[in-house]
Amino acid sequence: MGKSTNKQPSAVGSPISIDNDGDLILRVGGAATLKEPNKTVECKVDSTTLRRASPVFKALLFSPRVETKVKPLLSDTEPWTVSLPEDEPGPFTILMGLAHAKYKFISRPWNTVMVNGLLILADKYDMMHLLSLFTTSMREVISDEINIVTAPDIFMNLYSSWELGDEQSFAKALKTIILATSLDKDDMTELTYHGSKLTSQHHLGPADLLDYIAEVRLSILTTLVDFINNEYKHCMTGNACGVSAPQPVYFSRQRAANQLQIDEHTRFKKICEDSNFGGFHRYFTACEDIPFFPINVGNIHHSFTEFRDSTMKLLQQMQSLSGHEQCSPSNRFQYHYQGLLDGTTSKRWEPENLIKQEHKEIMKKKREAFNSVV
Ligand SMILES: [Zn+2]
Repeated sequence: MGKSTNKQPSAVGSPISIDNDGDLILRVGGAATLKEPNKTVECKVDSTTLRRASPVFKALLFSPRVETKVKPLLSDTEPWTVSLPEDEPGPFTILMGLAHAKYKFISRPWNTVMVNGLLILADKYDMMHLLSLFTTSMREVISDEINIVTAPDIFMNLYSSWELGDEQSFAKALKTIILATSLDKDDMTELTYHGSKLTSQHHLGPADLLDYIAEVRLSILTTLVDFINNEYKHCMTGNACGVSAPQPVYFSRQRAANQLQIDEHTRFKKICEDSNFGGFHRYFTACEDIPFFPINVGNIHHSFTEFRDSTMKLLQQMQSLSGHEQCSPSNRFQYHYQGLLDGTTSKRWEPENLIKQEHKEIMKKKREAFNSVV
C-alpha cells in the first residue's frame, strides 16, 4: 500500500516521478511573479542525489537552521514535501532530470525562455555544471533569437548570454537595450525599456548593469545633444554655411563678373545661415518635447532612439536654399548618428569596447567553468 502515496489526490496532479524511490516531493511554482502563476508541479526526487548535485539544496534540505525544509519525522502516509513557489516548473523538471541522470525528462528543443529559465535555476542552486553538455546548443538558441527586441525576451537573451559567457550576444542585446532605454518622466532615476521598468528584480546579468546602461545611454545621448548644440551655436555665430566662395581673380577681364559671384555668394551665405538659425528657433521652440537651447542632456528623459527621431523630425522641416543642401543640419545630423550606430565613427559597440573590463573577466570565468566540466 506504500506505493499508493504516488497516487494521492493533489491540487497539482500526481507528482512527476523523477526517482521512483525518491524520498522527497518538491512542489514547484505558483508564485504570482512567474510566467504561468497558476501552474504548479510536484517532482518526486531523491534528497541524497540532490545533496550531491547542489550545495544549495544540501544546505536547504540538510541544514538544521532551515527548519521548514528539513526532513520532518513523518509517517509513511505523509511524504516529505518542500515548496519552491518562486521556481519555474518547466526548467526545474529538466534540471531534476539532469541531476538524477533521467534524460527522458529533458524535453527538447529549447527556446530562449527555456534556456533562460534553466540558467536562472542552475545559478540559484549552483548546478551550472549539469548544463555543461548543452553549452553549445544553448548558445545557438540565444544567437538564433538575438534579433528579438521586445521585453522581456531581450532581457532573457541578455541574461542567458551573460551566464554562458557569450560576449557577442551579450553586447548585441546590451546595445539594443541601451539605445531604447529612456527615463521615467516623473522619476528620472528610473530606467524604462519600451514601457517596461528596468529594475534590479530582473535577471539581467551583473549586479551593476542598470547603472552601466544608464551611463552608456547618457554618454551616447550626450554626443547627439552636443552635436545639436554645436549646430545651433554655428548658426548663431554665422558659421553654418558650408558652401565655399568662388576663388577671386585679379588680373582678368572676368574680374567684374567674378566680383559679382563673390558678392552673391556672400549674400546667399548669409541667407543660408539666417534661415538655419530661424529654422532652429521656429521648430525647436514650438516643440514642447525637447528643452530649448542649449539643450541640457540631464533634462532629457528620451531614449537615444526617441531623441534622435524627434530631433530629426524637427530638422527635416528646415528648408535649405538651392545649392546649399550640404548646409542642412538634418543631413549632417543623420550622418553623425548613423556613424554612431553602425560603428563607423567609433567602435563603441564592439564587445571588446562595450563590455566593461570587470564584466569581461567574469564572463571569461563562466566560459572556463563550462569548459572545465566537459
Ligand atoms: Zn549654406
